[in-house]
Amino acid sequence: MEMETVATHSEPRTGPRLTSRSMNPEGTVVNVGGVPIGGKEIVVMAGPCAVESLEQLSVTARIVRDHGGAVLRGGAFKPRTSPYSFQGLGEEGLKLLGQVKGETGLPVVSEVMDTREVENVAKYADILQIGSRNMQNFPLLKEAGDSRVPVLLKRGMMATIEEYLFAAEYILSRGNPSVILCERGIRTFESSTRFTLDLNAIPILKHETHLPVIVDPSHGTGHRWLVPSMARAALAAGADGLLMEVHYCPEDALCDGTQALYPEDFGKLMEELRKIAAAVGRSIYVPA
Ligand code: PEP
Ligand code: MN
Repeated sequence: MEMETVATHSEPRTGPRLTSRSMNPEGTVVNVGGVPIGGKEIVVMAGPCAVESLEQLSVTARIVRDHGGAVLRGGAFKPRTSPYSFQGLGEEGLKLLGQVKGETGLPVVSEVMDTREVENVAKYADILQIGSRNMQNFPLLKEAGDSRVPVLLKRGMMATIEEYLFAAEYILSRGNPSVILCERGIRTFESSTRFTLDLNAIPILKHETHLPVIVDPSHGTGHRWLVPSMARAALAAGADGLLMEVHYCPEDALCDGTQALYPEDFGKLMEELRKIAAAVGRSIYVPA
């Protein structure tokens, strides 16, 4: 395989660019428990921000599955701004994810924040999520790169696309080829949304890399009413999938309730997404 050499900024950096599109011009398809991510079909990942209880996870997961979601999301370890906010159920949350995965057949994506938890989270989750705040946690990237479980790497909220791709490079260079990129909004001066969803990043990442690119319009906006517009825009711009927060009762959510879709919103949005997918020559992945 031919390696590309890069020299950027004032400091020359040399080395392979395993993330480069030229490494796999056809595009990489990451297989997650039989769900192909990065192919012609668009994959919708949805679920609560945090795992809160068996009832909450199980009811929400059924809503996700019944409306055509293909992967269940839910955090057991939550990176909260305040140490006094709900931190997640930890190990108990992982067990609930395992249980609900068994009940619904949905593969699971869940965040890992600590190098010491990578193996444990990988026991229950089909995809290890590395959150925005940990995008440049290099020991964590290396540990995830040493595992052979697919990684959903979210863009750091203050990371340039170049820095983001080097973070992905850490994982690939350790031998884990299964990285899914996720644009989730960046910090700008704009305060009417929680973050500014960088839709430019979608075609740029698709052009620069062979990795699947998905979009998180929930954290990217912070408001449930904005999620459908940005989800539709993401698919129109070429995203391979979406990661969205849905809660069976957002008023009771212990985390990010204001951006969680109601079950009926999610159903309506899935209908709209089917039309957008068809308009760009794709379809929404339907579990067999
Ligand atoms: C999440 O998806 O649960 C999350 C915390 O997102 P981010 O890392 O993008 O803030
Ligand atoms: Mn959240």
